Amino acid sequence: MKNKLKKPSGLNASLALTHDPEQHQRSLLNALLIIIFVFSAAIGTINILNFGAVFTALFNYISMLAAALIWLFYKRTKNLSIASWLLCGAVLFNLFAFMYIAKGGAYSLIWITVLPPVTFFLLGKRSGSWLTGSVFCLLVAVLAWQMPNLPSTRFSMGALLNITEVLLALWLVFRHYEGSREAAFAALERLSVTDKLTGLHNRAKLDLTLEKYMGYVERFEKPFAVLLIDIDHFKRVNDKFGHLQGDLVLQKVAKILHSNIRKTDELGRWGGEEFLLLCPDTDLSAALHLAQQLREKIAKNASTVGTQVTVSIGVAEIRQHMATAEALGLADTALYRAKENGRNCVVHA
Ligand code: GH3
Ligand code: MG
Ligand code: MG
Repeated sequence: MKNKLKKPSGLNASLALTHDPEQHQRSLLNALLIIIFVFSAAIGTINILNFGAVFTALFNYISMLAAALIWLFYKRTKNLSIASWLLCGAVLFNLFAFMYIAKGGAYSLIWITVLPPVTFFLLGKRSGSWLTGSVFCLLVAVLAWQMPNLPSTRFSMGALLNITEVLLALWLVFRHYEGSREAAFAALERLSVTDKLTGLHNRAKLDLTLEKYMGYVERFEKPFAVLLIDIDHFKRVNDKFGHLQGDLVLQKVAKILHSNIRKTDELGRWGGEEFLLLCPDTDLSAALHLAQQLREKIAKNASTVGTQVTVSIGVAEIRQHMATAEALGLADTALYRAKENGRNCVVHA
């Protein structure tokens, strides 16, 4: 048992360390802010020096300033959601300023096509869908309203219909794409933290949660208990009834454990026939009481294959300044003693 209680290595460790769903959103936000800043500065300067177009350059410098302010806001607050909305606002400002300056020249309209990838990626399917859909409708309405004043060679009814169709197609494709991307990401995320056999959290997730709870102990001085639960003589179950029956026992034990803990407790399969239960806001006596209850429930209800199934449980109360390995080591030592005491019992460190 002792040698099993190591920090996860290889795939699990890298999963735990690189698991950051907002990383791509952050990098897109930064990249877009840099692009808007640099392009606005360059084009504004060209507009003044080459064309003497001070009014046009004013728009460019406003957008440059906006990019810098959003960047500063994000650095200070780390609020990705508000920064993303502000950035979408800046992109829209640029698009409409450009169309206004170009007096609706057909080439300026093409820029509206950058809107869906930016908004869907930064704001997600729901908000991206609403924002892009509203802006597209607004644009088509303005074009239809302004059509009598626009050059008829470029803005015939056919052109307007084509623009409307392209925008509708873009909106539908990006909406569908973002929906599938979000669903695929959620499924992958779920898979990466789930134990396939029992449906409980896996070791990678337990590691992350354990670190989080250890942090709470350090900060808030709240009690926190760790329970290491090991099925007794499980090898015999496998040897006598086969691995499939063994799997059923694992599932049954997982189910009993899961249905007898609090929502705030974190339960997972630590490995093989061992489960780890993390109980925040729980002192030693409450943890021992819970452990006894779980042990009794399993001894009473987990016998699926005609042989009694029992568990031994090692309980440890985690205190401040304890390292994660030390906390797990305490629970493991207690579990080892429970096995020595004859199994089907609870021992605390
Ligand atoms: P103890 O009471 O000392 O814990 O004895 P034990 O037999 O439970 O412990 P041991 O470590 O000797 O054996 C654990 C067994 O658990 C061996 C392994 O084949 C079995 N096992 C591990 N994972 C699975 C699994 O996913 N399914 C099945 N059926 N068996 C598993
Ligand atoms: Mg074991
Ligand atoms: Mg065992």
